[in-house]
Amino acid sequence: MLRNETIAAIATAMTNAGISVIRVSGPDAFAVTDRIFRSPKKDFRLSDQKGYTAHYGHIVDGDEFVDEVLVLVMRAPHSYTTEDTAEISCHGGMLVTRRILELVLKHGARLAEPGEFTKRAFLGGRIDIAEAEAVMDLIESKNDLALKNSVRQLSGELSKKVKKWRDTIIFNTAFLESAIDDPEHYSLDGYRDKLKSTLIPLDQELKRAEDSFSEGRVIRDGINTVILGKPNVGKSSLMNVLVGSDRAIVTDIAGTTRDTLEEQIRLRGISLNIIDTAGIHNTDNPVEQIGVDRARRVVDEADLILYILDASRPFDENDREILNLIRGRRAIVLLNKTDLPAVISPAEAEQFSGQEVLPISAREQQGIHALENQIETMFLNGAVGEDDEILLTNVRHREAVAEARNSIEMVLQSIRDGVPEDFYTIDLMNAYESLGRIIGESLGDDLADEIFSRFCMGK
Ligand code: GDP
Repeated sequence: MLRNETIAAIATAMTNAGISVIRVSGPDAFAVTDRIFRSPKKDFRLSDQKGYTAHYGHIVDGDEFVDEVLVLVMRAPHSYTTEDTAEISCHGGMLVTRRILELVLKHGARLAEPGEFTKRAFLGGRIDIAEAEAVMDLIESKNDLALKNSVRQLSGELSKKVKKWRDTIIFNTAFLESAIDDPEHYSLDGYRDKLKSTLIPLDQELKRAEDSFSEGRVIRDGINTVILGKPNVGKSSLMNVLVGSDRAIVTDIAGTTRDTLEEQIRLRGISLNIIDTAGIHNTDNPVEQIGVDRARRVVDEADLILYILDASRPFDENDREILNLIRGRRAIVLLNKTDLPAVISPAEAEQFSGQEVLPISAREQQGIHALENQIETMFLNGAVGEDDEILLTNVRHREAVAEARNSIEMVLQSIRDGVPEDFYTIDLMNAYESLGRIIGESLGDDLADEIFSRFCMGK
């Protein structure tokens, strides 16, 4: 990818809208746009204008009028990409927007690859790779908490932490190397204990970051939830109650990797992806109907199982089979139909299932708040509310942190084993490099390309 090329793309959504923006970035951004822009002012050229100014005029194709537009001029390095950038705001019709893009391309720009604007921001040193990834997460945020977390990462919170960790490591490595090279001026007396008391809290902090991943992922992608229970216990009814409240937004997402449907609902800022187990209806043996393998798979993929028991009917073989299926999984046991005369008491249900039971009535909408509370405490622990807490939402980040921890633990092991100090620096530098990958230092070209190719067009 050559940064001396001028690139262009439609930066707004590809639907009819009030306005659309075509973004042009690179050394010829203004020259290219000047070729198709006519201002009512005499001898006007965008190339002569100051940064952060907006200019009214028309886009023309030769003599033909195409659209009335505003062009925003941003001069390097004060733009998103750090390059000269013209943003053409036109009337939002798809046809017009495409036509203007085609004109820009005809007059010297090349179509941007997905994520290329952000990649240029990275190459221009304006943002690091973790911030670039946060841009993508921000665009894809499905709920408020995910949004909040990616805004935090975008404002450099994660990068700041990573830099702090790396500073600690590099400081100690530098000290060690100096002391080894120049023992007359630097003493290593008592250094091991000192290093140990630095690395142990660092390791703990990294562990907390690593552990935040499952929570971070859940916030970003939603909690994969399965509602299980024998026929007629009230699975659909519960689903409707959860979906039907005002705050819920229901969408059908055809599962891309599985052959089931998902409903996505929002609950207090987190998304629940409820995996539809429709196959469980219409049979006496749910496990057979759904197919044991498929049921297992659905259960295996789930972050959360809502297992429903029926308070108005005795336990049967189906209840037991399903109970077996969910053993060892993160599950909430619900005792439904508590508005009917009870055949099973909560205490009996607890004894049967071996865990705490929430009494509910899907019909009367009782106990639903308690259920929501429980989901919230199970998955959030309030962590997102704390100001300096960063949740790792990215597999790449988690792996880098895990590798760094590994290296740091090797140093701690060496200290315990009384290995001489000159052996520590390799592991320390490995930890330093692993963490560097999060912010894009020591990041191979291939990886950078892969990261940016996941962006949408025009970003
Ligand atoms: P599913 O087969 O597990 O999806 O069960 P449904 O949600 O279709 O419910 C089966 C029947 O139980 C329906 O007639 C519901 O109206 C009824 N039902 C569901 N929840 C309750 C409840 O809390 N109380 C009472 N009385 N009936 C319920």
